[in-house]
This record gives sequence, structure tokens and C-alpha cells, in this order.
Amino acid sequence: MADATSMEKLVSLAKRRGFVFQSSEVYGGLGSVWDYGPLGVALKRNIKDRWWRSLVQSRDDIEGLDAAILMHPRVWEASGHVSGFTDPMVDCRTCKSRFRADKLADARCPQKPSKVPGQHTACDLTEPRQFNLMFKTFMGPVEESAAVIYLRPETAQGTYVNYQNVLNSSRQKIPFGIAQIGKAFRNEITPGNFIFRTREFEQMEMQFFVRPGTDDEWFERWRAVRMAWHEGLGLTPSKLRWHQHGPDELAHYAKAAFDIEYEFPFGWQEIEGIHNRTDFDLRRHQEYSGKKLEYFEQASGERYLPFVVETAAGADRVTLTVMADAYREEVVEAELRVVMGFTPQVAPVKAAVLPLVKKDGMPELALALYHDLREKMPADYDDGGAIGRRYRRQDEIGTPWCVTIDGETAAQRTVTIRHRDSMEQDRVSLDQVRHWLLERLG
Ligand code: ATP
Repeated sequence: MADATSMEKLVSLAKRRGFVFQSSEVYGGLGSVWDYGPLGVALKRNIKDRWWRSLVQSRDDIEGLDAAILMHPRVWEASGHVSGFTDPMVDCRTCKSRFRADKLADARCPQKPSKVPGQHTACDLTEPRQFNLMFKTFMGPVEESAAVIYLRPETAQGTYVNYQNVLNSSRQKIPFGIAQIGKAFRNEITPGNFIFRTREFEQMEMQFFVRPGTDDEWFERWRAVRMAWHEGLGLTPSKLRWHQHGPDELAHYAKAAFDIEYEFPFGWQEIEGIHNRTDFDLRRHQEYSGKKLEYFEQASGERYLPFVVETAAGADRVTLTVMADAYREEVVEAELRVVMGFTPQVAPVKAAVLPLVKKDGMPELALALYHDLREKMPADYDDGGAIGRRYRRQDEIGTPWCVTIDGETAAQRTVTIRHRDSMEQDRVSLDQVRHWLLERLG
């Protein structure tokens, strides 16, 4: 996977096998908006569940939250999004295309041969203008400026305005965190690369509230935890790296920021940001709302505004990362085999049950096993076509194990379990299959 062709293959597999479809495809599609099909929704849900389990379920110091997408418009004034959540945009008067002024070098002009915008003699670029990325809509029946509200461009603000509610209703003390998974919307000027940059997407964000002065130490701790989480998804370690934001890249609220980057077929790109947001957001909400948001620390008798260390990942981007990392092609017995080598914990289907032939009682045994497995894990049943083709179909969707019911199953009460990656087979007792699989799923 090192070029545009590999992205094309991934997008085509995603559509063919029901991972991701273009939104409103029958109407020609909607720019950079995507729908998740049966396997895609399962894959993305597994990734989100894994994130939630690692942060909320398995830790004592993080609580979950699900704030609304629509928020009071003052939130976005306080956060700085109304005035500052902008990208510089240029238009080409000749070809009518629109580009991000700060990403021109990565862009391609629609005129042939393909060049960076501005390089053709016919190119006629405007001066850069600031373009606010927030989607606007109206609340209530009257479309007037007083009724303008925004679709949230990040989940974090929902956490800040609820930080005291969570503190007062849980038994947390600082340091503690709030985790949230939810939709965010950005009217990106140049979205693209499939589900990498879209206008509607899902974030997995966690805000960790700490005593000022301990923020640097917590920042380092969270960096380590988050990198380990991505490695735990089974991603190729050499394709993960850190990118530290230099002074010119740092957001207005950040004291320090590191991105976790992945090497996609289209280059190294951010998949998660770890930010030291200081007390910027709470201070601004305190100022704009007129409500005290300070924390009273009983042990020291002090009051302070906590600092925030944020870990901000995109569920869609991580899903793309997992898919791009999993995709491989091999030649097996002179035939091309396409494999999605998902780690079993995120694979959308864990096991497929396949009767070798559609007779001699094999389908009945296979169906009974399939129903039994389905109580504990997503499983598939397939009795159509040659067994080799059925294996290939499962390889292509990343099913780690195929359980085959054959001529010996009825008499000996055994089945074969085929491993997706090595294609080796184990003979396992029929009544042990469920246990065998659950043990490996952990
Ligand atoms: P970028 O520089 O790629 O636009 P960002 O630095 O603005 O991203 P953050 O605001 O830190 O991103 O958002 C946190 C995470 O949310 C990103 O690491 C990414 O995974 C995800 N994300 C942000 N924008 C988009 C988008 N348009 N489409 C899909 N995911 C996104």
C-alpha cells in the first residue's frame, strides 16, 4: 500500500463488501459525506467500544458523557470558534475550484496536466479569505440572526460546560477526566481521502482535569497511554509516529500539542491529537457565563481553575487507519488473495461457520453451531459455493476464523478451524468451538 491505487482498491472493497458507501449515492452522492454499511458499522463500533472500555469502563478516574450536538450559541463565542475557527481559502477565477491557502502545496489543480494551483499560466487565484468552518442553522421557526445556532465542530465544549455537573454528581476529585464519543461537523474547504477528512464525523475525546502545575506530567502520561492504545489495535508500529506542534502550529488555547500520525497511502497524517489546553476553556466559559467554575480542593483549602489535558481522536479516521493497515494482497496457488488482516478484537465478524457440502446433515450441524456462537459473538453462516471461494470471501472481510463442518463432524464430533492469516487448520472438538474462540478473543 504505497500509492493512490491502493486507496482506490480499499474504497472499492469497502463498497463491494459493505463497509462504507457514499452518502446519497443514488442522487450522485454528497461531497465528502459517507455512510457505514453492515460491516463498517460493526468495525467502527468495535473501535469505539474499545476506546470506551479502555478509558471509562476500566478506569476509576474517568466518567462518560453524551452532550447534545446543539449548544447555546454563546458557547462558541466563548470557545473562540465564532471568531477564530477559520481556514484561509482561495478561489481560482478560471476553473472555479476552491483550495485551502495553507495547503496549496498538497492540492492539485483540475487543469491538465495536474499541477499545484497557481502553476498553470491560466490559473487566477484570489487573495486568501478567512472561512469559518462551523455549520450554521436556525433554531425555531424564524430564520433570523438571533436564531442562529451551530452544529458543534468538536465534542470538547460539551464536556467543559458540563464539568461541574459531572463533578457534583459523581464522586470524582481532581485529577479526573470526562470522555465523550459523538458527532462533530466541519464545513471543510478541501475534504477528501475517503473517510479521512469529512464534513460530518465522529470524535472520541477525553478531557482530563488536573491541578495547574501537574499538567506537564499528566500530558506525558496521556501521550504514552494513547500511543499504546493505537498499538493495541494491531497497527504496524513503524507506521505510527509522533509529530510535535511547533510554535507556529499551536492552537490559541494550547500550551503543548503532539499528534499521533499514521502513514497512510497518501502520506503521514494526524489520527489523534494530545493537547495541553491549560485553563483556557474553563476560564472563557467562566467569563462568558458569569458562573464560577473553580474547583475547591479540600485537602489544601485552595480554589483554582483546573488545567485540561485533552486526547482527541476521530472514530472515522481510526477506522480508516485500521482498514488501510489491514489491507493486503497475496498470491496463493497462483491466485490473488485479498485479506483484511484485522486484529480479532476489532474484526466485524469473528467466525464463519461453513458446511463443506449442502448434504449429509452438515448444514443442520453447522446451523446449530452458528446459532450457538451468535449468542456470544458476531458470526456468519455461508453454505454457497466452493469452500475455497467461501474462505476467500471471509478473508476479504477479515474474519479471523472459519469453522468447517465436514464428513467427520457427525461421527467424531470434531470440526476444522482455519486461521485467516496462516491458512492452517486445527481439528477441534465440536463442543469446544465456542470456548476455543472466546479464549482467543480475550
Ligand atoms: P486536521 O488538522 O486534520 O484538520 P485537527 O487538528 O483540526 O485535524 P482536531 O480538532 O484536533 O483536529 O480533532 C481531533 C481529531 O478529530 C483529529 O485527530 C481527527 O482524528 C478528527 N477529525 C478532525 N477533523 C476531521 C474531519 N474533517 N474528518 C474526520 N475526522 C476529523
